[in-house]
Amino acid sequence: MKKIFVTVDLEGIGGIVSTRQAGIVENALYHEARLLMVEEANAVIEGINQAGALAIVGDSHGNQLNMPIERLKGDFLLCCGDDKALSMMDGIDETCSGVIFLGYHARFGTPMSVMDHTYSPSTLRELRINGIPVGEAEINAEVAGYYGVPVLMASGDSTTMAQFKKSFPTIETVEVKRSTGRFSAICLPVDTVRERLREAAEKVTENIEQYGFLYKTEAPITMEYVWNTAAMAEICMFVPGVFRVDERTTAYVCDDYIQAFKLFAVFRRLARSVADKDYL
Ligand SMILES: [Zn+2]
Repeated sequence: MKKIFVTVDLEGIGGIVSTRQAGIVENALYHEARLLMVEEANAVIEGINQAGALAIVGDSHGNQLNMPIERLKGDFLLCCGDDKALSMMDGIDETCSGVIFLGYHARFGTPMSVMDHTYSPSTLRELRINGIPVGEAEINAEVAGYYGVPVLMASGDSTTMAQFKKSFPTIETVEVKRSTGRFSAICLPVDTVRERLREAAEKVTENIEQYGFLYKTEAPITMEYVWNTAAMAEICMFVPGVFRVDERTTAYVCDDYIQAFKLFAVFRRLARSVADKDYL
């Protein structure tokens, strides 16, 4: 049976515009938001199932424990839980036929996009792969590319979709809200969004050749990290092989992207360990 990997983030879900909804601090708005996330995932699972495929769903936001499993419907497997080896992409391998980025957002520093950030809002200002600034979509698409799996489809705000079209020109995009600022958007009704997602997921699963975009950087791969503070760069230098590009930028060169991707998780943890949340 064909398998489609669906990585589900929260910031690009319809109706989500605020960090309170994103659950940085747990509150009532977050508990509503996670159900919006579930229902968009259900729409995509339904589309994938209608095209005769199984959905491998990755809970990919925050602690990666957002979607209550009993609310998910259809033929799916759920990859959830913190500290997964491949983080947002855990569950993908060479047996998957395509990837869907559901509820995604633009990379840090993108004007007029809802909650733009790149993995760690408090530490990372920019990440470049072989000199090209990338966001979560490209970083994760490289994991898929490593396994030979193309990106098929993405959803999120209008600015994010325009950004993704440049990185993955052939994919189907579903705009769920028109971003009007970092914490605001004009949102479509949820039923409209879910119907568009279901339709798009079915269409791309049936037409992988047409929509698939394999995102893969040839080795050697240079990962450059621009940190929020010099202290964050300093502590990353403790890892052998890391070199300093400038005061706040460190770099790492390797041939194996999965190794680089796992090391990225280490760098994020190191950087967070020297972040003073009262002094940023
Ligand atoms: Zn994210």
